[in-house]
Order: sequence, then C-alpha cells, then structure tokens
Amino acid sequence: MDTLTALTDAQEIVLNAAAPLGIEKVGIMDALGRVLGEDVVAPRDHPPWDNSAMDGFAVRWDDIKTEHEIATPAELAVVEDVPAGKAAVNTVGPGEAIRIMTGAPMPGGADTVVRVEYTESTADRVRVFKPEPRHANIRPRGEDVRAGDCIIPRGAPLRPADLGMLAMLAKPFVPVYQLPRVAVLATGDELADLDDPFDEQKIINSNSYGMAAAVREAGGAPLLLGIAGDSPAALKEKIAQGLGCDILVLSGGVSMGDHDFTKDVFAELGADMHFWKLAIRPGQPVAFGAIRNTLAFGLPGNPVSSMVTFEQLARPAIMKMGGHRRWARPVVHAEFQERFSKRPDRRHFLRGILERKNGALTVRTTGPQGSGMLTSLVKANGLIDIPEDVETLQPGDTVRVQVLGGNF
Ligand code: AMP
Ligand code: MG
Repeated sequence: MDTLTALTDAQEIVLNAAAPLGIEKVGIMDALGRVLGEDVVAPRDHPPWDNSAMDGFAVRWDDIKTEHEIATPAELAVVEDVPAGKAAVNTVGPGEAIRIMTGAPMPGGADTVVRVEYTESTADRVRVFKPEPRHANIRPRGEDVRAGDCIIPRGAPLRPADLGMLAMLAKPFVPVYQLPRVAVLATGDELADLDDPFDEQKIINSNSYGMAAAVREAGGAPLLLGIAGDSPAALKEKIAQGLGCDILVLSGGVSMGDHDFTKDVFAELGADMHFWKLAIRPGQPVAFGAIRNTLAFGLPGNPVSSMVTFEQLARPAIMKMGGHRRWARPVVHAEFQERFSKRPDRRHFLRGILERKNGALTVRTTGPQGSGMLTSLVKANGLIDIPEDVETLQPGDTVRVQVLGGNF
C-alpha cells in the first residue's frame, strides 16, 4: 500500500521538478499574456524632447508674467505655427510667440506655454489675458521614461499597457518564455471521443477538453493525444507520443482497478516516480514523475478530481515552466454558510460560491459534491480549502477559499 503524500509536499516536489523554459521572440501583436523573458530597458528618453502639454502659444514667461486686464492684454507677434509632429524652425524672441499644438516640441527661447483659452489671436498676433506660472504646460523630456531605466521586469505577464509601452519604445519584437507544451491524454476503454460515432454505452471524453482549456489558461500549449484504451500496449504507445512535450497530463487509469495500467507503463518507460497518492479529496490517486525530460502527471479519471488535481499541481508546474513568478490563485477568507464534517485525514476542496453579503465575504458549497459531478465545478467561483486536521465546520466559521474567477 502506497503512503499518502500531503498536498503541500507534492506541490513542492512538482515545483522543484519544473524549470522555466527557454526564450523565444514574438511580435508584440502576439505577446498578450506571454511572460517577458528579459528586462525591457528604455533605449532613449520618452518623451524625447520637452513638449507642449496644451494647445496654445509658446512664449517667454517674462512677456506674460503680470496679471492683465481684459482691456490691456500682453500682445505678442506670432512668428510660426507648430503642429504636433513638426519642430519649430524659429526661436521665440522677446515680444514673440509660436502657436503650438499638444505634443509638439518646445521651440528654443520659449519657457512657458499659454493655453489657447487664455488668449485671442489672429494669424500673426496673439493677446494674452491671463498669466501662466513660469514653465507651465510643458512636459519635460524623459518625464515618462528615462534612457537606461528598466521599464518592465523579466517575468512579468504582458498586459495591454505593456504592449503599448513596447510600441512606444519602438520594439516590434519581444523576448518571452517559450510556451510549455502539454500533451493531454485520456485513458479508458469506456471512453468515446467527440468525433466518434455516438454510443450510449460509452462515456464521452470530456476530461481532455476541460484539461486542454486549463492548460491554455495556465499559459501552456495543449496537444491532444486522444484516448488510450486500457491495455499496456495502447497506453505505452500514446504516452510515448507525449514524450516530446514538456508535460504529459493523463487522466484515468491511476487507481487500483483491474484495468489501471498506468503504474506499470510508467515504470516500463523508465519513469522516475515521486508520488502515487495524495491526501486530498477529491482526487486521491495522483501520480507524478519524470519520464526522461517530460514531467508526467497521472490524474484521476473522475472529471472533478482531474480538474481539481490539475489545478493544484499541473497548473503551477505549467506556469513556472512558462516563466511566471507567481502561480497561486488569490486566496480569500470567507464565512462558511453550512455544516460540514469529514475525517481528519485528508485535505478537502469543496466547490464553492463566494458572495459578498452586507460587506462580509461568505461561501457556500455548490450543492452535491460527487467527484463525477462536473456541475459542482461549473457553478463554482472558488475552491474551499479545508485542511487535513479539520473535522467539522459550522455556519460562521472562517475558511480559506481559492478564487477561481468566473462571476466573482
Ligand atoms: P478511472 O480513474 O480510470 O477509474 O476513471 C474513473 C471514472 O472517471 C470513469 O469511470 C469515467 O466515468 C470517468 N472518466 C475517466 N476518464 C474520463 C474522461 N476522459 N472524460 C470523462 N470521464 C472520464
Ligand atoms: Mg479508467
């Protein structure tokens, strides 16, 4: 009889085995959500020159500094018009102004921009009714980005603002961590795939599709290997096909049943196994080891068990391989709304609905929690994490909940 491994130990084993992959270059249009592989360092200041923050007139502050009456405004000669995207040819001399648009470089000689609302002008004259403070309405060179600064650190998942920044720095390509390739394999003679002829005796392979999506969500690239029948030869052939990937996630065939050959086949393929059984529910049979350069997860066949164990073990591994620095879901504390009891031997993950009621965070289960009932997960926005040693919970007790997102 194998011993049960505690989940925290199992997670540590898995994370130790998962190393970040190499770097590849992708275009910024394809980089959303990818993990940055090198610090982004600004090659130059941005903005590259002092520029106007307003539509108005670039002036010498000495010419407009005093409060003017409407009747006696300061009057200056307009010597040039500078739209954004052009630089002034002239400098601003005493008694002169240059009409300037937002974003245009400051002309020489000027130290202040008077916003257009404070002026009245013709083509070649401007009257200034209100003063501005010295240096008003100028965005100084480098106020946003300074040459040599690290603007986005390695390991950051790229978001829209980051991609805008890369464009601003004129970097069309970006180094990112390679996508972990994850082979997804279903096992079981009872399974039919979605494109197989309908047979009401069979069970539709749903795991592969839920897992493939979970792989994507974790930042990996899924590769669907289909279904392996319950024979050592069939299993071995399919598993071998997955060994070109970084990770293999297999579901079913890891328990103690007569048709569960995963253990034998892993051994035949030379797997270096780290654990076989976890002290969690759902999902006690969970195998993990390395087959050559591939990390292999044997997850339980029941749909909820496979998703929950994927979430706790495969997801962190995929994220770490993909260059992420953080992989834990947000955890919140919430008031449990029900009664619950269990034996003090395993850690339980109940599927829960988090809600905010009168300012307090509450959580209740999604109803029946059978490990074959995928609705329990479909309705959930969190996993209620009940430690091994807890035996009973009463309404009002505080529990930890991993936030899965969805409608929360
Ligand atoms: P096993 O762990 O192989 O004993 O499988 C347990 C149960 O999980 C099976 O009886 C099936 O009902 C279900 N199951 C296994 N694999 C899948 C799958 N790929 N998709 C949906 N259900 C599955
Ligand atoms: Mg099976």
